[in-house]
Amino acid sequence: MATQRILDFIATRRPNGPCLVVDLDVVETNFNAFRKALPDSAIFYAVKANPAPEILRLLAGLGSSFDCASVAEIEMALDAGATPRRISFGNTIKKERDIARAHELGISLFAVDCVEEVEKVARAAPGARVFCRVLTSGEGAEWPLSRKFGCVPAMAVDVLTHAHSLGLVATGISFHVGSQQTDTEAWDGALADAAQVFGTLAERGITLTLVNMGGGFPTRYLKDVPSAEAYGRSIFEALRRHFGNRIPETIIEPGRGMVGDAGVIKAEVVLVSRKSATDENRWVFLDIGKFGGLAETMDEAIRYPIVTPRDGDRMEPCVLAGPTCDSADVLYEKKPYPLPISLTVGDEILIEGTGAYTTTYSAVAFNGFEPLKAYVI
Ligand SMILES: *Cc1c(COP(=O)(O)O)cnc(C)c1O
Repeated sequence: MATQRILDFIATRRPNGPCLVVDLDVVETNFNAFRKALPDSAIFYAVKANPAPEILRLLAGLGSSFDCASVAEIEMALDAGATPRRISFGNTIKKERDIARAHELGISLFAVDCVEEVEKVARAAPGARVFCRVLTSGEGAEWPLSRKFGCVPAMAVDVLTHAHSLGLVATGISFHVGSQQTDTEAWDGALADAAQVFGTLAERGITLTLVNMGGGFPTRYLKDVPSAEAYGRSIFEALRRHFGNRIPETIIEPGRGMVGDAGVIKAEVVLVSRKSATDENRWVFLDIGKFGGLAETMDEAIRYPIVTPRDGDRMEPCVLAGPTCDSADVLYEKKPYPLPISLTVGDEILIEGTGAYTTTYSAVAFNGFEPLKAYVI
C-alpha cells in the first residue's frame, strides 16, 4: 500500500522517470512485528532485498543484525553501524579471498553446504563458526529457491563433523523455506531435519547451538497473507515439537517481509496499442519493466498490485510490458492484467509492494534506460 507519506512525496517532489519510494516508518513497523512475533529469535535482515543505506542504518539502530552475501554487502552493513558480531556471511558460494577479507573485517559466522566450502573457511577464517544449510522442498513458496543451496541432512552431518575436525566451530543448521512462503507450516519439515542433525552430532560429541530459519516471510501483493504473528506461532510450535524443552538459539533472515510493502514504484504509461483490429487484449507499455527492476515478474511469479488514476472505470485485461527492445521484457501476458479501459498515454501509475528485490535487480543502462532511482523517506 502507498502510505500517505509516499503519496505526498510523489505529489510534491514530482520525481522524474520511474522511481521507487520507500517509507522507513513501514520498515520500522515490520521490524517490530518480527521482534514481537519471534521474541527469542535474532533478526538478521537479508541485505540483498534492499541495501539502501537509510534502511540499513534504521535497522542497525533498531538492533537488527544482517545476513550478507558478499564483501560489499558486509561493508554496507558495517558502514550502517552494525558490529561484525551482528553480521553473517550467509552465501554458501564464496571465493576464498572474500572469506579471508570478511575474517579480517571481524566476521566470524559463515554458511556452508559442502565439505569443499568448509575447507576454504578453515583455511581463510580459522576458528570461525559455521552453520550448514540443508535443502528444503520450497513447497508453498511463490518464489522458490530451488536446489541451488543446501545439502541433504545426512550430508550436513558430515559437513559439520569435517568442520569440527578442522578446528572450526560447528554451530548449527540453516535453511530457507522459499521466498514469498505463504504456508505458515512450511518451517516444520526443515526444523524436524535440523533436530535430527542436532541429535546425530550430539552422539558424536559435537554440540550444535544454532538454527538459522532463513527468510520466506511474505509481502501482501494481490492476495492476503498471514501475519508475522501467525508465522511466529507456527514456528514456535514446530520448535517445541522437534526440540522439546531444549530449544536452540534461533535466527530469522527476513528480506521481502521486512521491506516489500514499504516501497512503491511510480511509473508512467508510454503506449497503449493492439496488435490487430480484432486483438482481444490491449498492450500497455510502461516506462519500467523486467530490466528496470521488475525482474520478479519472471514466469509471472510475483504479481504486483497496480493503482491507476482511472481506477473505478471499467476494467479489461491487458498484456503489460516494459519499454526495452527485448521480447523478454513482458511482465504479464500468460495471465493478462485487468486495467481500466480508459488508461492512456502519460498516466502515472503506482506499482505497490515493490520495496524488495527491485532496485538491485535493475540493469545499469540496458537500451540506455537509467537504473531504477530510489528515494527513502
Ligand atoms: C534471500 C535470502 C533471504 C531472504 O529471503 P526472503 O524470502 O526475502 O525473506 C534470507 N536468507 C538467505 C540466505 C537468503 O539468500
